[in-house]
Amino acid sequence: MFQTQNPDCLFCKIVKGEIPSKIIYKDEKCVAFHDIDPQAPTHFLVIPKVHIGSCGEINGANSLVVSRCFEVIAKVTKELGVTDFRVVSNCGSQAGQSVPHLHFHVLAGRDMTWPPG
Ligand code: 5GP
Ligand code: ZN
Repeated sequence: MFQTQNPDCLFCKIVKGEIPSKIIYKDEKCVAFHDIDPQAPTHFLVIPKVHIGSCGEINGANSLVVSRCFEVIAKVTKELGVTDFRVVSNCGSQAGQSVPHLHFHVLAGRDMTWPPG
């Protein structure tokens, strides 16, 4: 079982419009918006509207929104004219997750290093 929204969650507040953000795209399942602290010339986030804590909470009952997030990534990058990009989802604080609502970073416009730090 998962909560639809978490009233204390920053990204749930962005979904509800309680916190302003530079929204690029939204539909009934997902929202894409520019990261407030961009780490590349193009850096936006794609999130499900429902509150899922991280990749570690994806399951058979909620995974449809995850495939929708990736459709949105493909659509928005095309619309922005971006062909080369990196998708990152940090899961847990040791991996660098600071907002506990599932999100996919999309980074582009500069050379990327591998492995990531
Ligand atoms: P994480 O650290 O969880 O992987 O990624 C969270 C991301 O959310 C960070 O890149 C951070 O800059 C971004 N972020 C945090 N607060 C806000 C906000 O209020 N608005 C927007 N647009 N991005 C935010
Ligand atoms: Zn949330």
